[in-house]
Amino acid sequence: MSDCIFCQIVAGQIPSSTVYEDEEVLAFLDITQVTKGHTLVIPKKHYRNMLEMDSEAASTLFARVPKIAQNLQKKLQAKGINIINNNEEAAGQTVFHTHVHLLPRFDNADGLKLTFETKEPDFAALAQLAQEVFLGE
Ligand code: 5GP
Ligand code: ZN
Repeated sequence: MSDCIFCQIVAGQIPSSTVYEDEEVLAFLDITQVTKGHTLVIPKKHYRNMLEMDSEAASTLFARVPKIAQNLQKKLQAKGINIINNNEEAAGQTVFHTHVHLLPRFDNADGLKLTFETKEPDFAALAQLAQEVFLGE
């Protein structure tokens, strides 16, 4: 897609700092560097987000994630890595070409705050909800 910024990066029309590249996948440093080494892993083919990818396309993308993450951890001596993927505006997606964020973690003040608001478990509600969304095989 010519008006997609990540397609333009794939095409070499705008610069990026490449961390990994093969036939189907590209990984480059996120310009905002929320934590040191913040990397985006993208399919070279344009998809709006994960919600429009099939399992083959998603497998191709995710198959590369462990080795790119392991390399970042090793080279930057990160203590951990968060892997995040935002789908649609409501989930914080701002660039509409599928991308997986790899965020190396160093300590509590490394620039990333992720909080999960926990609630008391309601087992009846869980059972009902599971029935509602059950996918099967
Ligand atoms: P989202 O919010 O869609 O999950 O993340 C989009 C990410 O793309 C942001 O973290 C933003 O910093 C990054 N980004 C946006 N434009 C560019 C760009 O031109 N180059 C690079 N390297 N990253 C970009
Ligand atoms: Zn694109």
